Amino acid sequence: MATQRPSFPVRLTPTASAATRGRMPAVPVKPMVPSTPSMASNAVRARMVQKLAAQGVSDPRVLRAMGAVDRHLFVDSALVNQAYEDTSLPIGLGQTISKPSVVARMIELLLGAPALIGKPQDKLGRVLEIGTGCGYQAAVLNHVASEVYSIERLRGLHERARTNLRPFRLATVHLMLGDGMIGYAKGAPYAGIIAAAGGEAVPQAWVDQLAVGGRIVAPTHSASGGQALVVIDKTARGLERLVLEAVHFVPLKSGIA
Ligand code: SAH
Repeated sequence: MATQRPSFPVRLTPTASAATRGRMPAVPVKPMVPSTPSMASNAVRARMVQKLAAQGVSDPRVLRAMGAVDRHLFVDSALVNQAYEDTSLPIGLGQTISKPSVVARMIELLLGAPALIGKPQDKLGRVLEIGTGCGYQAAVLNHVASEVYSIERLRGLHERARTNLRPFRLATVHLMLGDGMIGYAKGAPYAGIIAAAGGEAVPQAWVDQLAVGGRIVAPTHSASGGQALVVIDKTARGLERLVLEAVHFVPLKSGIA
């Protein structure tokens, strides 16, 4: 799927001095396009980060990562004005980019993996993301992990993520087309596994591919019929499972399409 990159209007400010003005060739001056909140993207992103902090995201690694990635470059040009609002947005093929607050919350949980306890400065090692979608979360994860493996089952989105991520030239992000329900054994063991789609339960393959000291963060079906965020830690003593708040993710499906 082709991605249209939003182009930010450049303010045309008169810079020619009185001395040079007379000699300048006549060029048609475009009318100044009024700026909207999404257009001054650095300032808007900084405001988004402030809101995340106010909502309780406290890990500086997460706040830095959320402040570093241009979310507007991952959504359709028609939705650019909403790119820094705390809302999920359609990315095509019936899928959505998660809300910034959910991305931040899940990555903060991932950084709470047993291996990183007491190491507030450290990055994660290799991370597996299930559900690349438009590639936004993979770009954020790249700031907090040494290597990101991200798998997507829909060819159209896999290709879209490739296009979206190309300008960032991230040598440590690896995009794969495949069924993430079986994980990605070639990159294992993972320090963290994060899913952007919710299934009945956490597949055994993810648990098998997780390193000791690693953590899985995934939405799964809850007893009430909805979805809840589940955290699974692999420790030397075995698995520890924690069920957290209700969430709303697209379904985890098997096979490639
Ligand atoms: N992290 C993404 C969010 C994408 S939405 C982003 O930043 O945009 C979740 C994605 O999971 C969808 O694109 C969906 O196609 C994908 N998905 C669902 N089941 C999957 C599976 N078994 N393997 C890989 N991807 C899957």
